[in-house]
Amino acid sequence: MRIALIAHDKKKEDMIKLCMQYKDVLAKHDLYATGTTGAMVSEATGLKITRVKPGPLGGDQQMGSMVAEAKLDLVIFLRDPLTAQPHEPDVSALLRLSDVMDIPLATNLSSATIMLNYLTDIS
Ligand code: PGA
Repeated sequence: MRIALIAHDKKKEDMIKLCMQYKDVLAKHDLYATGTTGAMVSEATGLKITRVKPGPLGGDQQMGSMVAEAKLDLVIFLRDPLTAQPHEPDVSALLRLSDVMDIPLATNLSSATIMLNYLTDIS
C-alpha cells in the first residue's frame, strides 16, 4: 500500500512514537510524508520515506494531488485541532479529496492505531 504520513507540529511526537511502534509493518509499504514529518520520522525510525514539500509550503496540496490521482491508498494525518494553521485551506482540500476518493483517512491517534493494527493483521 501507498501510505501518507502527515502531522501538525504539536502532533509530530505522536507520529514518531506511532511509527516506531509500527515500524515493522510500515516498512512493508511505500511511505510518503510531508517534508518535516518525513524528516523527523525517517531520522527516528530509519524508515525509507518519500518526502514532498513541507505542509505549509505546498506539501498538503501535493498529497491532495496524489489522492486525486489515486496514487495513495491510506492517509494518516495527525491534525492539531486546537491550533490555527496558516495553510488550513490546503488541509481542508486534502481531507475533502480523501473523502471524494473514498481513501481511508485517520485524523487522530486512535484511528491511526486501528488502521495500523489492521495492516499488521493482514500482513
Ligand atoms: P510538515 O507538514 O510535515 O512539513 O510539518 C505538515 C503540515 O503542517 O501539514
